[in-house]
Amino acid sequence: MENVVIIGTGCAGLTAAIYAARSNLAPLVLTGKMPGGLLTTTSIVENFPGFPEGIDGYELMVRMQQQAERFGAKVKTLQVVESVDLTKRPFVVTVDGERVETKTIIIATGAGHRHLGLESEHLLEKKGVTFCATCDGAWPMFRNQPLVVVGGGDSACEEATYLTRFASMVHLVHRRDQLRASKIMAARVLGHAKITPVWDSAVTEILDLKQDKVTGVRLKNLKTNVESVLPCAGVFVAIGHVPNTQLFKGIIDMDENGYIRPVRGTATNVPGVFVAGDCSDHVYRQAITAAGSGCSAAIDAERYLGGL
Ligand code: NAP
Repeated sequence: MENVVIIGTGCAGLTAAIYAARSNLAPLVLTGKMPGGLLTTTSIVENFPGFPEGIDGYELMVRMQQQAERFGAKVKTLQVVESVDLTKRPFVVTVDGERVETKTIIIATGAGHRHLGLESEHLLEKKGVTFCATCDGAWPMFRNQPLVVVGGGDSACEEATYLTRFASMVHLVHRRDQLRASKIMAARVLGHAKITPVWDSAVTEILDLKQDKVTGVRLKNLKTNVESVLPCAGVFVAIGHVPNTQLFKGIIDMDENGYIRPVRGTATNVPGVFVAGDCSDHVYRQAITAAGSGCSAAIDAERYLGGL
């Protein structure tokens, strides 16, 4: 019987693990398919306090895991939760066919990449369409080629800036004429000689299915309705995220977009189940806020266990 099962190992899950482990709760931490979460796919994280020079996202997550393990967290890598039964006590979490009983659960499942929803995006994924510049940007097929980044937030700006190392030119396609990104990231992009913004435009199709690789995008100007084709060798979709909460649908309260709605602090509608990080945060969505909520969730779980 576990005291705490933490589902997810991004900033929220691993911070919860550090705190729960230091409370002698020996938490079981299940990483899912992406150990370390989305931050492992970013390059340098410049706004996590304590790292004035910035820190590589992957390294930050490895260090957090080491810190949690040092105090007794049991991190099970690549273990994917198949189902949860929250109708009885102890709760039952089924992981890779195995039943795990636990007194409390911290949900820290984070969020995944939002897709454009185009058939061509799906069919050309890994054939020039990707959702992560740091993971895929260095592929030979993208070297010295024009590339397209879709989006106008911090992610899109970060991807575009990173890709300038490899691309001949990066076209940043955004549906409005103003970036949503933070001022510092937006200024970096708009001042970059190798980044060309393409304003007020939507990607309506990724070409070319016949050649089975990306050769360009079909664009529609949303103000004039004029269509055009922009040649490119790769399309990097960076249009935000969707919470990874499917597992809890119909069991844990969530909003219409699937973000878990805590009832008080990090407590959910099921007593003993707590939530932290991007799977319940559509407002701040920062590494440091996720870490902060992970800390809160571990403290809430510890206090709950103390009252049992
Ligand atoms: P975001 O801030 O939600 O921005 C998503 C962008 O994609 C917006 O510009 C949005 O357009 C556009 N978009 C959404 N759906 C679209 C669609 N169907 N078709 C075309 N465009 C679409 O998401 P994000 O950039 O991933 O950032 C998420 C959070 O992580 C933010 O809080 C951000 O600050 C943080 N973050 C921080 C860093 C950093 O500090 N280093 C790096 C990455 C992310 P509209 O603007 O028109 O809505």
